[in-house]
Order: sequence, then structure tokens, then C-alpha cells
Amino acid sequence: YTVDYAPFKDENNHIGGLVLVLKDVTKQQKLEKMRREFVANVSHELKTPLTSIKSYTETLLDGMLDDRTISEQFLKVVNSEADRMTRLVRDLLQLSNFDNNKTKFNIVNNDLVQLINQTVIKLGITAKNKNQRLEFVTDCEELITCFDFDRIEQVLLNIVSNAIKYTEDNGKISIYLEKKDYEALITVKDTGIGIPKEDLPRIFERFYRVDKARSRELGGTGLGLSIAKEIIEAHNGSIEINSEFNKGTEVKIRIPLQKSLCNTILNTV
Ligand code: ADP
Repeated sequence: YTVDYAPFKDENNHIGGLVLVLKDVTKQQKLEKMRREFVANVSHELKTPLTSIKSYTETLLDGMLDDRTISEQFLKVVNSEADRMTRLVRDLLQLSNFDNNKTKFNIVNNDLVQLINQTVIKLGITAKNKNQRLEFVTDCEELITCFDFDRIEQVLLNIVSNAIKYTEDNGKISIYLEKKDYEALITVKDTGIGIPKEDLPRIFERFYRVDKARSRELGGTGLGLSIAKEIIEAHNGSIEINSEFNKGTEVKIRIPLQKSLCNTILNTV
């Protein structure tokens, strides 16, 4: 609490009492703490690849350039670290646009079945490389509703890539699509490493990761789920994660089946 006070006087100019103003600043302080943590995280995440790029280039300049094999190896590391920074900056820019309400959504009629089929094709090879089964189960021939195709595809690619990443070789990833009364329900289920119970409540926070080293090694920025949540909520939908450590994870995405959502003209139609 912050405390402010002022005396008040009667007609004889005698102090008759005191006005006390107590202001609850818990929320303000919490926001400020989150902001500071975010800046610290961004700096750290950018510094890690930079340090690596710097040390590899220095070693090359110090004479290693003559060794072609080593040079190539080092340059590959430099290249992939630069890619990581690009991904990070791209994700940060997207989040900043959400924060400033600058994101334009193209919400028009699209088919969720087509979108999921496309996702399965795009990620099929990644799953196959890990000898995983990636399946899509639905009774719907098509399920048309209003959404931004590219943005929802981005969400699904992220959720399914996570399922593939955090599932061992030979595991199984299933995507279900169901038409409910008022909403479409997409469920992405994996047989992977799962998320410990204590981490679940914070999993949608920016930069929150169960295992930082592992996520980094797998190319993650730790921003995927927070971006997914922003996009789904912009569609008036919801996203939730259930998980059991060492058993698997289930992500449920709900998108309302509302015609009225279409052409709420967030921009081009
Ligand atoms: P990242 O880029 O690290 O994958 P995300 O925001 O996409 O970031 O996910 C945040 C964290 O949630 C991951 O680092 C991982 O610890 C956990 N996670 C997400 N999806 C899964 C999953 N299917 N199985 C297990 N853990 C997951």
C-alpha cells in the first residue's frame, strides 16, 4: 500500500481530522515485476547466441580459418545462432504488435479440416524422422467457420511441433476435430514427456519453459504458447493444456462457430 494523508480543518481553523488515502499497489507492483523479468529474459535470450557467435568468429579470426573442415563447422554454428536470433526477434515483434493492438486479423470463412490436413502434411516429415505416428481423426468432411487461416495455422503448427519435439521417437501424436454446439474443438494429444503439475499454471507465460536447456537445444524461443494464446483469444476462443508428467500432453483449442465473428472487419475481407 501507498499512504497519503491530509488534515482537514473546521471553521475556526482547528484540525478536525485527517483524511487517509490507502492505495493498493499490489497489481501495479506485480506488473512492474513482470515487465522487469521480461526485459531480463529478452536480454539473456539475445545475449546467449551473441556470445556464441562472438567466440566462434574470434576463434576463426585467430587462425582457425586455414582449417576448412573446422571453419565450416564453426560457420554452421554461427549460422544457426543467427537463425535463433531471427526467430526470437520475429516472435518478440509479433507479441509487441499484440500488446499495441497493431495486429491485423483477416477473419473470414475458412475450413478447419483443410487447415489441419495442411498442418499434417507440413509436419509429417518431422514426425516421420522421429518414427512417430501423426494422425488426424474427425467425423467432419469440412468445418467452415470464421478465422484467420494463417494465424490459426501458425498456432497449430506450433502446438503440433511441440507435441513432436517433446515426444520421444516412436511416439504418437493425434489431432482430433469435433463440431460442438457452438464451437469447434481441436485436441492435440501426444504420448510425450509431459509437463510436471507445478509448471502447468505458468506454461502460457512468456519465456516460461519447463527445461530451458532442452527447449533451447530443440530450437524453441519459449514464446510459442504465449503467442498461441493471444491469437486464439483474439478469435474469442480458448486454449488449455492438460498434462501428466512422463505420460503425455493434451492441448484443447476452442474456436466459436459464430457467423457474426466474420467481417468484424479487423481489416481486409
Ligand atoms: P518452446 O519454444 O520452448 O517450445 P513454447 O511456448 O512453445 O516454447 O512452450 C513452452 C514450454 O512448454 C516448453 O518449453 C515445454 O517445456 C512445454 N511444452 C509445450 N508443449 C509441450 C508438450 N507437448 N509436451 C511437453 N512439454 C511441452
